[in-house]
Amino acid sequence: MENDRLQQIRHLLADMDGVIYSGEQALPGAADLVRWLEEQGIGLLYITNNSTRTPQQYVQKLAGLGIAARAEQILTSSLATRAYLERAAPRCTGLYLIGEDGLRQALLGDGYFQVEETRPAYVVVGMDHQLNYDKLRRATLAIRAGARFIGSNPDRTFPTPEGIIPGAGANLAALEAATDVRPTIIGKPERWMMEEAMRRLGAEAPHCAVLGDRLETDILGGKRLGLVTLMVLTGVHGREDIAGSEVQPDFVFESLVALKQAWEKARPESKRPGAKKGGDRAPDD
Ligand SMILES: [Mg+2]
Repeated sequence: MENDRLQQIRHLLADMDGVIYSGEQALPGAADLVRWLEEQGIGLLYITNNSTRTPQQYVQKLAGLGIAARAEQILTSSLATRAYLERAAPRCTGLYLIGEDGLRQALLGDGYFQVEETRPAYVVVGMDHQLNYDKLRRATLAIRAGARFIGSNPDRTFPTPEGIIPGAGANLAALEAATDVRPTIIGKPERWMMEEAMRRLGAEAPHCAVLGDRLETDILGGKRLGLVTLMVLTGVHGREDIAGSEVQPDFVFESLVALKQAWEKARPESKRPGAKKGGDRAPDD
């Protein structure tokens, strides 16, 4: 029964931080799992709520960890925000933007959207290490004048070596306090980002899994859409967190090594490498 759920997975949406790597270190089994997924023909898309980096920057980071990825395999909350806005707004729509390279390039890189400081149709807010009062003031005025308020991702904080620091969600909270308007949020666990990821892979819910380390984003987002939820304990949440949570993953693994072992066992014989029928070469070649 359990094996059936693993066996039917054709597409995988994988979170990165705490799953594939931790800081600048690849986590055990990451490169091996990625190669195996490729051999198995399981479609892989990396999804991250981080709005500050571009897909190219992630491709480089993964390459540095021995993992080959293509830019099309990376979906950041910035790219998901772009996809959302493109469906809602015509070319040349004006935005006021609080964010960094990842968000800027996704929204403004090809001129589909334009920066408009006085009367923007949208205020789009992500993580911004250069956030200041003037930016909050402009965004507040625009939202109060009727601009739609969009948040790239809900993460209120994130961990750093010096401790827990404010994230995009803290910026959104400041603007919500100043405007009494709740933002539309795109990133995990919201459906906009998860659906965009599935659209890019051509995936359907019963055959699509999400792999992550956080209950309230990765796992909750997957559950809401009826995906198979795979959790690893190499990131933010541990067994105590799961025990105390309403959000229960379908599968929990100590690491990617354990995940691959279980998944490999669940795959039908014919899909396993080495079990392919017909030899291109004789066994004793
Ligand atoms: Mg993570």
